[in-house]
Amino acid sequence: MLLPKPYPDEAVGSVLIRAQLIYGISIKPMLSWIHGSPTPRSSHSFHLVTEVDRVATLCGMEPREFLYDHTVFPYVTACLPKHYAANLEAKFLGATDAKNFSMASLVGNASQGAPMRRYCLHCASDDLIRHGETYWHRLHQLPTVLICPLHKAPLVQTGVHAGLAHGKASLSLPSPTYVRPVMPPIDMDVALTLARLSEDLLTGRFNRDVDWHESYRQKASAKGLLHHYGDIAGSVSALALSELYGPRYLELLACEVKRPFSGSWPALLLRSSRNQFVSVVRHLLMQAFLDHVRLDDRLRLLIDKVEKSSRTDFDSLDRMAETAMREEIGRHKDAGTRTTVRHLLSITGVGATFRHNRPKMPLSNALLEEFRRSDQSARQLGGNAHWRARTPSRWGLPSARALRAQRNDPPDPSRDA
Ligand SMILES: [Zn+2]
Repeated sequence: MLLPKPYPDEAVGSVLIRAQLIYGISIKPMLSWIHGSPTPRSSHSFHLVTEVDRVATLCGMEPREFLYDHTVFPYVTACLPKHYAANLEAKFLGATDAKNFSMASLVGNASQGAPMRRYCLHCASDDLIRHGETYWHRLHQLPTVLICPLHKAPLVQTGVHAGLAHGKASLSLPSPTYVRPVMPPIDMDVALTLARLSEDLLTGRFNRDVDWHESYRQKASAKGLLHHYGDIAGSVSALALSELYGPRYLELLACEVKRPFSGSWPALLLRSSRNQFVSVVRHLLMQAFLDHVRLDDRLRLLIDKVEKSSRTDFDSLDRMAETAMREEIGRHKDAGTRTTVRHLLSITGVGATFRHNRPKMPLSNALLEEFRRSDQSARQLGGNAHWRARTPSRWGLPSARALRAQRNDPPDPSRDA
């Protein structure tokens, strides 16, 4: 028993649906068969799969090729630091169980805002002619794709939940009997930019070495989103971004821009500090915003009105730093890796301020104290490479002398004499 060969850009969920239709079996026996053992599972993600090697082999494909061509993996990892994305890839392609770890958060990135299956009428008719059947395109299910970038047509929103589940509705493929396309809640030009950028990330058509933060800051400054004293106008940018997309779409994507704007996610994304783990959806919203923002008189007035603040707002700095560090610790927890206080402070971008004003930033201080005692602290267990070499006995390792003695084995009898 094999799985059908995936069509171009077919989502993994769609492949599994077609397999069910071909063999006439329900979801549970099919998953048992894929796992090679009885499973209590009766649902499956539409976007990702933990058993990549197994599913890919059954489709007659290389696991890596399958991961990049038929799951949302390249999209959700596109804006992550390179080494972190490579780690995740190794985990997905490896045989360990550790891949269940971040599957949920990765899928969440891709399915938030797109709970129902979507398709393009034009693509569906093309597929019918070309392949004799229709299928669910991976690209059309992405939360930042509201129109088909190929046909520039709004997508049809079906009433079928994206995930694979038990029941007849789950088995459906795109068909003209569904309702009419839904106009996106945002400007069509912006929607098209978002769709094209999403497609670039999904298909890997972008420069992996790009420093996203730096590129946003350059673009923002080229667009005039700058204060007279040279800082990027983060708050006004956040306001303009929230107006461009509207609260409805931002809420759907769980990307609400909350007041005070100075602490909102678009403002933080435009800061010089690096929080490298911003969701791909936020990156895409920022990119399309910077492509489309027009600086009108009202925005210019707002930007000019802001004075450089002479007093440091420790409360909001503290909250911002604490959130950034907590997220980073969580990621290390998920990945089973360790980090240092120094690294945590470096991603907040306010490390020096913190060191000199500890009492004024109690949240961050408490979090770091808690972190020092946790398993995620590199200092706590096992130490770092330098200290392991310097003080081996502390980490339960053989001393340099013992190692030398081991190397000189068998012992020189003349020395004992
Ligand atoms: Zn289309």
